[in-house]
Amino acid sequence: MADPTGFLKVPKTEAPKRPVDDRLGDWHEVYERQSPQDRAAEVSQQARRCMDCGVPFCHSETAGCPLGNLIPEWNDLVRRGRWNAASERLHATNNFPEFTGRLCPAPCEAACVLSIGEDKTGGSVTIKRIENTIIDQAWQLGIVVPQPAAITTGKNVAVVGSGPAGLAAAQQLCRAGHAVVVYEKADRIGGLLRYGIPQFKMEKHIIDRRLEQMSAEGVSFVTGAEVGKNISVEDLRRDCDAIVLAGGAEQPRDLKVPGRELKGIHFAMEYLPQQNRRCLGDAVDPETEILATGKRVIIIGGGDTGADCLGTCHRQKPLSVHQFEIMPKPPDERSPLTPWPMWPMQLRIEGAHEEGGIRDWSIATTKFSGEVGSVKRLHAARVGPAPKFEPIPGSDFTMDADLVLIAMGFLGPVRNGMIEQLGVALDPRGNVATDRNYMSSVPGVFAAGDMRRGQSLVVWAIAEGRKAAAAVDTYLRSSAVRSAPQISAVQQIAS
Ligand SMILES: Cc1cc2nc3c(=O)[nH]c(=O)nc-3n(C[C@H](O)[C@H](O)[C@H](O)COP(=O)(O)OP(=O)(O)OC[C@H]3O[C@@H](n4cnc5c(N)ncnc54)[C@H](O)[C@@H]3O)c2cc1C
Ligand code: SF4
Repeated sequence: MADPTGFLKVPKTEAPKRPVDDRLGDWHEVYERQSPQDRAAEVSQQARRCMDCGVPFCHSETAGCPLGNLIPEWNDLVRRGRWNAASERLHATNNFPEFTGRLCPAPCEAACVLSIGEDKTGGSVTIKRIENTIIDQAWQLGIVVPQPAAITTGKNVAVVGSGPAGLAAAQQLCRAGHAVVVYEKADRIGGLLRYGIPQFKMEKHIIDRRLEQMSAEGVSFVTGAEVGKNISVEDLRRDCDAIVLAGGAEQPRDLKVPGRELKGIHFAMEYLPQQNRRCLGDAVDPETEILATGKRVIIIGGGDTGADCLGTCHRQKPLSVHQFEIMPKPPDERSPLTPWPMWPMQLRIEGAHEEGGIRDWSIATTKFSGEVGSVKRLHAARVGPAPKFEPIPGSDFTMDADLVLIAMGFLGPVRNGMIEQLGVALDPRGNVATDRNYMSSVPGVFAAGDMRRGQSLVVWAIAEGRKAAAAVDTYLRSSAVRSAPQISAVQQIAS
């Protein structure tokens, strides 16, 4: 039984990070590599802090974990050093805890009962650290193995997009006995895990070992396969019993101000994938290469994507980096507008912010100016709060800039191509609309992840991929869906 006063005996300790100078000298993850023994010993102690609450808000899908992770159960197993059983309970609700353990902002920790009155409790249980340690131990112990289905149903499913939503849906459907092919337009599998999220947040071999497991279970992956372009939607409709759309929310929000056309102004998702490619050993075309080296960089957008640009810039040795946000600076502590157990509105300091750069808030960019077609200056004004963002008279300023990165979020999925050709209905925000069973307006076509909910989080993508897969499975088993060999689309790509 859990120790209800464990949190009074064991102080909260987060996973140790490497010194900033070391971090900036390479592209490895920011966390220290502890020995498995030290890691296990420390984290078992951390798990002792969990009270095993009667009402565990941490695992509530509305306030805490979108996956409904069985947090108190695996905390107790970790406390007792039962890593195999903890891994089994963790995988019961999450296909890829190594992704969430590294990347999730951890709404579970914000909802943990110990985050009420932190000055007295010492703070929430370090749930994310415990999750990550369980899965790292599990890989180390060799207990993460393929789990092929015992039966095959003869049904064919196409999953479009290989981000966390598509991968979770594919793994669940394959384990249910369906033949699953994942179509990915990029040259590698992984979606934003592969080409958006920088290496220093998650090294890419972490994805590869999962893909090996999924391949061994029977999932087929086809890269360079853009549905709606070189894979026709008619072929997929004809050959598959169900389709899961998991193509993400790739439409970036632009900044339509004078001078936007100047060279040196790029979307974050033009910049970040290039560095991920370099880290993977690819050559980047010098004609289109974007580098922060020796430049005065301004990042527009104060969110996570902006922070990823910041960390990437610093590893490329810029002259300076500023990060501007239009919203006012959030409070240092949880705002009373977002009381426990809600996700708190408060200032977040990511690993990248510890490494340098200047952050500033309540700033709206009004124009860019340049020389010989390239950006040289950003013009801006300080503004009042949302929703009007009224410029404050006399607050205009100009800042030198050789590289501007726009990280202002995303406006939902790209509509031309697959979505238009399938004719699925969209919701008022332009995402693929579905019913409660994740089915779109076109029978047999489902949607999950950012393509359905708009720009979100890895944890939500996995949760939606799992729920959509369960709905597809029910649909395939309950309906008189005909079967056909899924061959022509794959052949089309191969030819
Ligand atoms: C830079 C950046 C950093 C982020 N960092 C974090 C983080 O630290 N933590 C966190 O929780 N969330 C983070 N997010 C958000 C998170 O990555 C997304 O919410 C998540 O990846 C969405 O998963 P998904 O599977 O729905 O889509 P995606 O990961 O976007 O994958 C969609 C895939 O579909 C493919 N595709 C699209 N259309 C087609 C087509 N027609 N045919 C074939 N393939 C197609 C795309 O190429 C892509 O590979 C970040 C996002 C960005 C942009
Ligand atoms: S809310 Fe916190 S203390 Fe309570 S069960 Fe969850 S992790 Fe443990």
